Amino acid sequence: MTGSGARIIAITNQKGGVGKTTTGVNLAASLAATQRRVLLVDLDPQGNATMGSGIDKRALATTVYHVLIGEKSVAEARQRSGAGFDVLPANRDLAGAEVELIEVEQRETRLKAALATVASEYDYILIDCPPALNLLTVNGLTAAHAVIIPMQCEYYALEGLSDLVGTIKRVRANLNPQLEIEGLLRTMFDPRNTLAQQVSAQLLQHFGDKVYRTVIPRNVRLAEAPSHGLPALEFDRSSKGAQAYLALAGEMLNRAESVARQATPEYR
Ligand code: ATP
Ligand code: MG
Repeated sequence: MTGSGARIIAITNQKGGVGKTTTGVNLAASLAATQRRVLLVDLDPQGNATMGSGIDKRALATTVYHVLIGEKSVAEARQRSGAGFDVLPANRDLAGAEVELIEVEQRETRLKAALATVASEYDYILIDCPPALNLLTVNGLTAAHAVIIPMQCEYYALEGLSDLVGTIKRVRANLNPQLEIEGLLRTMFDPRNTLAQQVSAQLLQHFGDKVYRTVIPRNVRLAEAPSHGLPALEFDRSSKGAQAYLALAGEMLNRAESVARQATPEYR
């Protein structure tokens, strides 16, 4: 990693149920398994990433909500997941932030400022965004260096993608010039489905190398693990789902290394 602190990645797609949270929790666990220091930020009032990491959202006095409104620091609000990474948790309190932040100065950069206080303690900070292009998501995109876009290869997926790319461009123009697309991730993939294959081919045609070579298959263990408060890696290490997310972490780390090698003269 670079010496300047964590690489911050927002996991985002305004479409619901595409695998954002599953990706957040399982990528966090996989990166932790490769000895990376990881903070997973739950930026969704549903609190699914919190629960899926084994932290009871109902029992929390302090959450990301209190951080966004400036009442608590990240250091005060974060929790340790049993799976080896930290979580900045969320629950329904966060739904109020959307309204309360409208009044506040620099409402788009609250998360960015908060994460800057702990960035040196992590290699990766992953942000699980809600299924909306709202102020919470804008906070996520403003705080991030890059975005991972999980998507199901369905008929309307590409249409939704152009809305999201539009939002990313607007955030880049107004709030965060450095924001890049880290990668597009095909989730819940069923290779026997012809339409999925066609959409996947179109995705590769449009976005080329931005599409991860790792594909996340539809796998029931990934769906079962959250009800046990565990990433799939802890729940069933040998499952196809757990292995796919380990492969994704590997692909991400390889890419980061080859970028670093190209940028650093000593490697030449
Ligand atoms: P939301 O937009 O509501 O935040 P999301 O994009 O975070 O949703 P997830 O919650 O990760 O999506 O996934 C939606 C549902 O699909 C969940 O029940 C999850 O367990 C299940 N799921 C996710 N990925 C897979 C997979 N690869 N195989 C099987 N089930 C999956
Ligand atoms: Mg989610």
